[in-house]
Amino acid sequence: DRQREAVFAAIENVAARLAEAKPYLTELDSAIGDADHGSNMDRGFETVVEKIEEERDSDIDDIIKAVGVALISEVGGAAGPLYGGSIMHASDQLSEGLTPESTVAFGEAYLEKLTDRGGASVGDKTMVDAVTPAVHTYKKSIENDDLPAQEALAKAVDAARRGVEFTVPLRANKGRASYLGWRSVGHKDPGAASTLLILEAILESAE
Ligand code: ADP
Ligand code: MG
Ligand code: MG
Repeated sequence: DRQREAVFAAIENVAARLAEAKPYLTELDSAIGDADHGSNMDRGFETVVEKIEEERDSDIDDIIKAVGVALISEVGGAAGPLYGGSIMHASDQLSEGLTPESTVAFGEAYLEKLTDRGGASVGDKTMVDAVTPAVHTYKKSIENDDLPAQEALAKAVDAARRGVEFTVPLRANKGRASYLGWRSVGHKDPGAASTLLILEAILESAE
């Protein structure tokens, strides 16, 4: 059906954008990490695209769950389990398919699992700094401002973009970058940057 096709198209676009952005994410992670975030995300989503072929007739929640499983199994390091575990957990919210309500619930469950697992809060210079404003903005745009899901997503992408910029002056308190202490200041967080890229790719495929 149409929703399932849209989900496959979005995932494939995410994979394509991450493949393009591999050098960029590698550069960000070489400044404050171990220079593998670009290859981690690219390899992860390459595997995702292969694995979801088995889900062509599955329900949306099972397709998204398979994305999480593939990321956990393929991507080591910090980002794989954080992305994969959060996606897997949040996929339960999509059992009725994609609606404004279910996608808000997905975002909230994703953020909850991410912060639960990683223990990071806003300001620790991690992907949480992009996810938090995106989820809050998406929820507010749907629930308070009654915007259509696509416009709400566009607002969420803008919020994530500001979140990525917000990480630049911060000192990292979680993950590998925190080993650098003050030397982590002045750089974008790679995981926040990949989160933004993923949201941009989803928005692009929804347009
Ligand atoms: P690794 O640091 O193991 O090499 P990656 O380079 O793939 O893994 O991912 C690094 C990103 O993971 C960081 O930029 C940050 O956004 C995110 N990250 C690391 N630790 C945490 C954490 N505890 N909570 C949330 N995000 C984290
Ligand atoms: Mg790394
Ligand atoms: Mg690593």
